[in-house]
Amino acid sequence: MMSLEVLSPVIIVSSAVIMIVCERLIPYTDGQPLFRKGFWTDLGMYTIFQSYLLSWVIFGFIHWLDGQTGISRFQIITSWPVWLQFLLFLITHDLYIYLFHRWQHRNKYLYRIHEAHHSVGDVDWLAGARSHSLEIVVNQTIEFLPIILLGAAPEMVLIKGIVDTVWGMYIHSNIDVRSGALQYVINGPEMHRWHHSKVIGNSINFSTKFAVWDWLFGTAYLPRPEKPAAYGLSTSNFPQGYFSQHWFAFRPFSKKRVERTEE
Ligand SMILES: [Zn+2]
Ligand SMILES: [Zn+2]
Repeated sequence: MMSLEVLSPVIIVSSAVIMIVCERLIPYTDGQPLFRKGFWTDLGMYTIFQSYLLSWVIFGFIHWLDGQTGISRFQIITSWPVWLQFLLFLITHDLYIYLFHRWQHRNKYLYRIHEAHHSVGDVDWLAGARSHSLEIVVNQTIEFLPIILLGAAPEMVLIKGIVDTVWGMYIHSNIDVRSGALQYVINGPEMHRWHHSKVIGNSINFSTKFAVWDWLFGTAYLPRPEKPAAYGLSTSNFPQGYFSQHWFAFRPFSKKRVERTEE
């Protein structure tokens, strides 16, 4: 059998191809081009360059911390079946992401490292990749630290990485998915695309993998068959380049109350 290291890029690339084809066949929003504005930055800089660089930073830190504390040698969950370990990390991290994401929209400092994610105008399968490096460092350290320190199965990091990537592409994809009652549990583009709405995205649909958090905590919005009129930030001065998008997070806060944490 092919190793997971080899299988992982195969699964990710084929999922991307399937989503690109579905976007052409059954688009959610009509008229979005495949090579939309920011496509190459999102693919080259965010998906490849940033992911590669940050995996060194994040896993370097986690292994350093483990070396200092030796926590993983207690093998706290090593004897658990792999599927149970996976469920544990899947559900707990998804709840964390929901809460942190909601907080990012309500705190003007935290929003600064999240607005890059909302700056894509044509939300599609690749749009989810655009996330400020600091946001990724926080979220992925919190995601992978317990996996390594609790002594999870060695393949758990890869499994979780594949699931994160494919599910992330799916919830942003420009596919007219009608998942019916399943949308109360499993999150998809029907709800997450509303989170990228220019007008009301700031206060609704913070879930990533499980929509159940939005329904449970009263932040769900699903006005089927209505669709968002426009995606992205309400301001037009967000820069286009990868590095300028990063520095933009550290611009001074405006004195007048025009600084918005909206959208
Ligand atoms: Zn958001
Ligand atoms: Zn998103």
